[in-house]
Amino acid sequence: MQTNAKSSRRQRARGTLDWRKLESKWQKKWAEAKIFETDPKPDRPKFFVTVAYPYVNSPQHIGHGRTYTMGDVDARYHRMRGYNTLFPIAFHYTGTPIAAMSKRLSQADPEIVETFTRIYHVPSSKLDEMKDPLRLARYFHEEIRKGMKEIGFSFDWRREFSTVDPLYKRFIQWQFRRLRDNGRITRGTHPVGWCTNDNGPVGMHDTMGDVEPEIGEFFLVKFEQDGIVFSTATLRPETVFGVTNLWINPDAQYVQAEVDGERWIVSKDTVQKLQLQNRKVAVEKELSTKDLLGSTVFNPVIRRKIPIFPGAFVDPKNGTGVVMSVPGHAPYDYQALEDLKSRAGPMVNAVLGWDEIKPVSIIQLDGYSDIPAADAVKKFHVQSQEDPKLEQATKEIYSAEYHRGVMKQNTGAYSGMNVAKARDTVVQDFTSQGLITKMYEILNRPVICRCGTEVLVKILSDQWFLDYGEADWKKLAHECLDNMTLLPEDIRPQFEYAIDWLKEKACARRVGLGTPLPWDPSWVIEALSDSTIYMAYYILSKYLSREWMTFKKFEKAPEKLMDEFFDYIFLGRGDPGEVSTITDIPKRVVEGIRREFEYFYPVDMRHSAKELIPNHFSFYIFNHVALFPRKHWPKGIAANGHVLMNGQKMSKSLQNIIPLRQAIQTFGADPVRIGVLVTAEMGQDTDFSEQLARSIEERLVNLLVQAKKLGISRGKKKSGRPVSILDRWMLHMLNEMVKQTTNAMDSLRVRETIQRVLYQMDNDIAWYLKRLGPLKRGINSRDLVLRKILEVRARILSPLSPHVAEEAWSLLGGRGFVSIAPWPEPDDRSLYPEAEISENFVKQVLEDTIEIMKATGIKPKTIMYYTAPDWKWKTYLRALEFANSGTDASRVGDFIKMIMSDPEIRSEGKPAADYANKSFQQARQLKELRSSRVKTGSVDEAGILKDAKEFFQREFKASVKVQKSGTKEIDDPKSKAKTAEPYRPAIYIKE
Ligand SMILES: [Zn+2]
Repeated sequence: MQTNAKSSRRQRARGTLDWRKLESKWQKKWAEAKIFETDPKPDRPKFFVTVAYPYVNSPQHIGHGRTYTMGDVDARYHRMRGYNTLFPIAFHYTGTPIAAMSKRLSQADPEIVETFTRIYHVPSSKLDEMKDPLRLARYFHEEIRKGMKEIGFSFDWRREFSTVDPLYKRFIQWQFRRLRDNGRITRGTHPVGWCTNDNGPVGMHDTMGDVEPEIGEFFLVKFEQDGIVFSTATLRPETVFGVTNLWINPDAQYVQAEVDGERWIVSKDTVQKLQLQNRKVAVEKELSTKDLLGSTVFNPVIRRKIPIFPGAFVDPKNGTGVVMSVPGHAPYDYQALEDLKSRAGPMVNAVLGWDEIKPVSIIQLDGYSDIPAADAVKKFHVQSQEDPKLEQATKEIYSAEYHRGVMKQNTGAYSGMNVAKARDTVVQDFTSQGLITKMYEILNRPVICRCGTEVLVKILSDQWFLDYGEADWKKLAHECLDNMTLLPEDIRPQFEYAIDWLKEKACARRVGLGTPLPWDPSWVIEALSDSTIYMAYYILSKYLSREWMTFKKFEKAPEKLMDEFFDYIFLGRGDPGEVSTITDIPKRVVEGIRREFEYFYPVDMRHSAKELIPNHFSFYIFNHVALFPRKHWPKGIAANGHVLMNGQKMSKSLQNIIPLRQAIQTFGADPVRIGVLVTAEMGQDTDFSEQLARSIEERLVNLLVQAKKLGISRGKKKSGRPVSILDRWMLHMLNEMVKQTTNAMDSLRVRETIQRVLYQMDNDIAWYLKRLGPLKRGINSRDLVLRKILEVRARILSPLSPHVAEEAWSLLGGRGFVSIAPWPEPDDRSLYPEAEISENFVKQVLEDTIEIMKATGIKPKTIMYYTAPDWKWKTYLRALEFANSGTDASRVGDFIKMIMSDPEIRSEGKPAADYANKSFQQARQLKELRSSRVKTGSVDEAGILKDAKEFFQREFKASVKVQKSGTKEIDDPKSKAKTAEPYRPAIYIKE
């Protein structure tokens, strides 16, 4: 997306700042000083934060950048807050997608070749070796690792591993044996998402756009015609009493087939689905829709003949492609019938005899007419059966009727039942009569496998399942969830739903990379099942590193690392001496590893993307509660939104995917980090654009320019303590910023933090400098103040833009790395609320004056300010207090009486009564401001404006005169002084 000419132009424009040089300088220093390598420190609190390890089937793009940056920000923040912070990373190789990609490369599939070369920038010379899945994985592993280092993530790299490492497999086998011991694994027959091309089950990681296939049940209600069954698929079998006709798609293909001994008519697409669900299907003949349309079938429930009509909205791939029409209660059916009546054509003529068809009302629903479907069609302004608004209309009626609807008298035995109950009863009764059968369907279809095939439902027999449907297990998962911190908190209902909804999950495949099932090695444990408790393995992986080599001898013979070892380390079972004997690892090392696990576990915060809530995140909870004691259950989950590019979703077809490494090259690491975080808080989608990255870059560069200047001035000028009211104001604002950003960071409101530390602070500093004006000799507290500000900003920016923060810190002469410097604390000695009040007042007067100049078009020679007299302040403050005790308008009389009883005020005569009335009304309008103004009391506005006189004269290039109303011999040629009120000085502008 970035042309070379463009980037070299930018290089020149940037002048001296070379991001690559700056970034690698600090990355090298961090690595050399090992500041991110974390070992237990029993005297310090720990924080264990993880990000879901990346899947190595592609390089990371800017969207991945967000989740990992957020995890890094979390880790860096906690490090500065004094936590001994462990932040490790590993790489996920498991599953079929990598193998599928290699296979497609071997077949020289043009689409995958283009993706690799044009989007991922894989050199074409590499493509050949990537036909081997493991080498493909290693290539992207390397690529991702480089990107993670270049963006400055503060990982403890000693703990890196991949999921095909021999010892990791050993760990996973231990996990699965223990799960089986605990009764969490079953073998049985269950529906799964299935790819007929790969001939294997499909989970979220295997689908385009990472969509989890949701499996649900359709009911097939059978209508008959001369011994032939029309199997209509519906989610609402109780509405069969209101059926007026059937729908088929006039352009689809249908077949007559023998299904489990009956003769069925279904769409051609249905045949394979029925077969996958273990039904015996033999197609007898293909049918022309002309033969079917206009003929009749028998509704066995209301015992009447009904016609078959054409409906373009019917999807032959959904259900059976045959639909029963309930126009009274289904908006699609209602609209399709309307369309049929209004559209002329041969098909319509053929069925004209049926034009008396009217919706039948069978469900009573309060707040709706007899025909709720018609109400919804009207409400959503639906135009035709192809109108996408019908989806919403359908959802609304479905939900309203399910929760509040009651069956009417014309439903016989079900009359008076609520819809939910009627549905269960109808299914029970009709199933026993052979009128209803079931079929599984992908509810959120179409879900497309990465190979391009639509995912269907297959009933698998003899498959290994994790039994997430088990009630006891769900109870433990809920208990864990109830005690967890969720960021943002509003994702909790999604977790509740997922935990309740999850059923048996196929946990092994016949193909793909990964760990063989220990008791049946013809199966490989799949990707979402071997990634649930691996955070515990980070404790072990350190001991594989060069520094320790504890496990070196097991890499060639992993089977020698026995389950007893894992039992002791992770569950505290058994005896360290025996474990030492079995494994030949010194006892003190065995005990040390156990201590390290006990120190770091559980995980305090786990980061990933929000679409992992119904799968990975939930499995993470389930598996922990199944294996570990309560004290080691997960404590927090952070679910990040997506990154949009210029407001659009990133997609290969839009060609708007920017690989992370390319983005770092183009914009610099820190602008990318802030760029993916700044436009929204965690749960929402952020929007990245080149323009945004450039503007961030500019601000960061300015910060460094400032640091350089202040660094040079350091030590030169000794004079000056921050004493002026302006200095106080600036330090007060800095303090407020520290308080607010600390509060925001505690719940990772990173957007707010960036807004305050970068944007708001820039504005405040600009105001401070503008107010100060040109420096006078002798009173140079300015640089002292600016240096203090920058020192604090460098620390707060350190988790967000660590490279710029380090550079600024070192330019200012800070000690050590800012990355591990303490997070700034608010300084109570630098709280000057009166300074904030006075600067707000100056700002207000400045704006008001500009407004008047604009409105009158006058270029002033003199500006006169008149501040309110004492008696108005007295009145005003009493009005505020009075309003605090209730703002009932009828009390105005009492208030005026009270004010006028003060002899000093009464002496002002009628204006005093008028102002009492006015201030009473004003005080009623004020809300939060009221209490703070009461607390502030009267403000010496004349004093503030006199202090700011030079500033106003500079700004307006005019002479400025400040007078307090009510004082003697006031210069007031236009009698403006009498209009002055507290917080609203009168302004007179003279040409
Ligand atoms: Zn596939």
